[in-house]
Amino acid sequence: MKKPDNSPAYFNWRRLKKGVLVTGYMGGWAVLKPEEFRLFAAGRLKKGPALARLEKAGLLRSRLDFDSIFTDWRDSNEYLGKGPGLHILVLTQVCNHSCVYCQAGEVTGSSMTSATAKKAVDFSFTAPVPGLTIEFQGGEPLANWPVLKEAALYARAKAKKTGKELALALVSNLSLMDEAKAAFIIKNDISLCTSLDGPADLHNANRPYSGGDSHAAAVKWIKYFQKRRGTRPPGGPSALLTVTRASLGRAHAIVDEYARLRLPYVFLRPLSPMGQALERWAEIGYGPEEFVKFYREGLDRVLELNLEGVEMKEKTAFLMVKKIAGSQDNRYVDLRCPCGAGLGQLAYDWDGGIYTCDEGRMLARGGDASFRLGGVRGSAYQDVIAADPVKACAIASSLDLQPVCARCAYRPFCGVCPAYNQAAQGGFWGSMPGNARCRALLGIFDAVFARLLDKRTGPVLEKWLES
Ligand code: SF4
Ligand code: SF4
Repeated sequence: MKKPDNSPAYFNWRRLKKGVLVTGYMGGWAVLKPEEFRLFAAGRLKKGPALARLEKAGLLRSRLDFDSIFTDWRDSNEYLGKGPGLHILVLTQVCNHSCVYCQAGEVTGSSMTSATAKKAVDFSFTAPVPGLTIEFQGGEPLANWPVLKEAALYARAKAKKTGKELALALVSNLSLMDEAKAAFIIKNDISLCTSLDGPADLHNANRPYSGGDSHAAAVKWIKYFQKRRGTRPPGGPSALLTVTRASLGRAHAIVDEYARLRLPYVFLRPLSPMGQALERWAEIGYGPEEFVKFYREGLDRVLELNLEGVEMKEKTAFLMVKKIAGSQDNRYVDLRCPCGAGLGQLAYDWDGGIYTCDEGRMLARGGDASFRLGGVRGSAYQDVIAADPVKACAIASSLDLQPVCARCAYRPFCGVCPAYNQAAQGGFWGSMPGNARCRALLGIFDAVFARLLDKRTGPVLEKWLES
């Protein structure tokens, strides 16, 4: 009788504390004992639970299910044919804060006119997507309130006319919020995201505000909107955290502050070396290993709170666990292959300049226009979407073309960022060894897998997928 062929399909591997992680091209995975791994790699693993796990994960060459591989591949790449769904309107350079890490940190500056905002909305509706999100950003977008209001109403009318689904979103420090603006935001169903860097002392040190107490303003309006729209998404407000050197060692306090304010997510991400953050890196920056230590402490605190009955998620782990569990959700444009530059999002600067993403726009602010695609006056959708920077980003963020990523066990769940590479390395290309973003991601993936494989915390992470 012919012996069964147990030779491995294409795989990458990584040594973890609990064993050897083996991942396949489409994201199927298994953790093996070292001896099982040696036999698997040699094609000599015999029938048993490990072989059954490998077969189920699509890691045995002679037992690949090509129908499901085809369906998974098609579903996970479907977004490529759709066009950008996220459109970021930078309404103003003006901001009343002078955050230590921010490129906008100035009180004066230029703002988008109503005519430019309408052109940007018109342009965003030319993307051939059935639904889109328009996000208002700054500077501080509330500093250009009349244009925000007009653009929101114009976009809503346009959605009605075209039959496209429209979500409106606002990213604001909330210090210029008042009852009238809040009423408009609620009436027009604009979702809200603010900045919250942790407890008051840390937040206010990171986000100096000459007009008052930045933390108190954010907390006041978070509670205000929670009272009227609930604490859960999509209505409830959310918050974004920026991690500086001052945050290291304070992961528990930061997570506890998010829990105290009943925020559904805390999003632990490393600081990017762009704009003001790059200029002040020696003072506010840190290395990837320092971030990973902070990340582990923060994630552990979130899991501990979950075990005590508090409902909250850490967003990076949540996005990763979704992918690890096989979800084809590609909405998070910074952790997908290729990334969302132009293909998933576009950013419109105050003057109508169109960029691959907000990070690309920020680089232009510092004098590097590599990510500029055109302008709302004079550029057609086809020209913008086929512009060289979109193609260059698609190639540079294709993990199969990156020598290090192509051999990495986390490739099916990961994504590289050409804007980060440009800022950190002076070129779109390359998660080369030593790339700090990659080193942070490796540490985060290790931490997430370790907790997923842990009997106590694994079920908590799996439960996150239910809601
Ligand atoms: S960026 Fe780093 S962690 Fe991500 S796939 Fe590439 S090598 Fe792996
Ligand atoms: S270049 Fe970077 S920031 Fe821009 S969409 Fe791609 S991953 Fe995101």
